[in-house]
Amino acid sequence: MKNIILMGPPGAGKGTNAKRISSFYKIPHISTGDMFREAIKNGTSLGKLANEYISKGLLVPDDVTIGLVKERLSNPDCANGYLLDGFPRTLEQARALEEIGKEIDRPVNHVLNIVVPESILVERISGRRVCKKCGAPFHIKTLQPKVEGVCDLCGGELYQRKDDNEETLKERLNEYHKSTEPLIKFYRDLDLLNDLDGDKPLDEILNKVNDLLKD
Ligand code: AMP
Repeated sequence: MKNIILMGPPGAGKGTNAKRISSFYKIPHISTGDMFREAIKNGTSLGKLANEYISKGLLVPDDVTIGLVKERLSNPDCANGYLLDGFPRTLEQARALEEIGKEIDRPVNHVLNIVVPESILVERISGRRVCKKCGAPFHIKTLQPKVEGVCDLCGGELYQRKDDNEETLKERLNEYHKSTEPLIKFYRDLDLLNDLDGDKPLDEILNKVNDLLKD
């Protein structure tokens, strides 16, 4: 069973690799960031609340985020595994996930930590473009779409995330170091964590994941 967490700082390539890994193993890709952006787009009360934090580069409060993930993981499509992208991001979320895993009888059994030098993160984030319709990520230099501004997968319009600017990124990196980085030790101590070199070509990363996930 592949019950996977994909971790890494903003700009490490979590979304891009999560899409490839989840489609390879045919398991749902659960991105809390995507769920929040969808709620913002739809103007729901969750969206309004999340936007207050996301626009400042801050983390959405734990109780809100944990509730959202708990509901999502209870969905029948997670019965054969799942890939969490961007959750957990705090120790409180990680501890809650341990409990949820027990409750639904699908505990996390692999944590993949994408490692990328900090100097590269800023360049990756500032050049990132995302499809408005399907969320597929591109980059103006390293992952160009076939037609400028148009998604290769669904033809949707590409845009730059509001929180992908230098000022907000600084705060997101702060949050990462303060709240999320301690999770590396948490999962290493549980003997669940493996590092991935996020600077390698995408196919090489997927091959490495296949090696690591061989049961
Ligand atoms: P991402 O798309 O993963 O980069 O997430 C975008 C933003 O959504 C983050 O900067 C946070 O503000 C918020 N967010 C996503 N996941 C979480 C989480 N697990 N806990 C708190 N906030 C989150």
